[in-house]
Amino acid sequence: MIVATTISEVRAQVRAWRQEGLTIGLVPTMGYLHEGHASLIDAAVAQCDRVVASDFVNPTQFGPNEDLASYPRDFEHDRQLLEEHGCAMMFYPSVDEMYPDGGGKTDTYVEILNDMPKQLCGKTRPIHFRGVCTVVSKLFNIVTPDKAFFGQKDAQQLAIIRRMVRDLSYGIEIVGCPIVREADGLAKSSRNTYLSAEERQAALILSQSIFLGEKLVAEGEKDARRVVAAMTEKIQSEPLARIDYVSAVDGVTMEPVEQISGTVLVAMAVYIGKTRLIDNFIVEG
Ligand code: AMP
Repeated sequence: MIVATTISEVRAQVRAWRQEGLTIGLVPTMGYLHEGHASLIDAAVAQCDRVVASDFVNPTQFGPNEDLASYPRDFEHDRQLLEEHGCAMMFYPSVDEMYPDGGGKTDTYVEILNDMPKQLCGKTRPIHFRGVCTVVSKLFNIVTPDKAFFGQKDAQQLAIIRRMVRDLSYGIEIVGCPIVREADGLAKSSRNTYLSAEERQAALILSQSIFLGEKLVAEGEKDARRVVAAMTEKIQSEPLARIDYVSAVDGVTMEPVEQISGTVLVAMAVYIGKTRLIDNFIVEG
């Protein structure tokens, strides 16, 4: 596996692959990789001739009081995981390589101006999706993939990227991949490493609430408010949990819905101690 740290190295390799007529898949990540990321690599390897994974903690998607400085990093672990899963290139740029103005700043952003980035996580993370769209656009321009792979774990991000690709006419197919969970249900996340043993146990309340919501919908509940209320009550039974949001929204627009009809995303963000975790399920229309 090639480890590239500069944009020019990536471009030269992509050009060579293109000359051979090979297709290219991109998996953007922030590193500290786990089986959730690995599932994206596996999907990309299955569908594309060459897979590029970016491993970059993107400063423009973190707010001033968020965990940019403490975000976990482990280059060697990530390199090995990517290699084992058949990734052809790991793109591991410095902040200055991605943001040449220095300090992880840029004067040019890609931003969706409708309400999609303002719903759900956007309420407490107002600049988050602007940073995500900007870095993903940059990665699309650098790698020029045929397909890019994103996890359903970050369902709002996936919906926003789909919208951005449509609006900016990127000729890239966006592939959504299912949430990978620990054996006990907790959605895998790089941020799970922040949890103490007691918090790790308490964090199960997220997936338990997700499974409860799924069960209610499977049993025929159509009133989204009743589903959200039951899930909320479940989370509130855990003393270490503090709800940021539990919401049912349209799966494409992210607008709140009252009825479960069409494609609905039921999503939550919950603090366990100081750690903010997200989880969700989709009801397909
Ligand atoms: P991150 O490194 O957290 O920015 O995530 C990089 C990509 O991996 C995103 O598309 C995430 O949605 C995806 N991802 C993270 N955790 C999981 C998981 N548990 N299951 C599936 N995909 C995931």
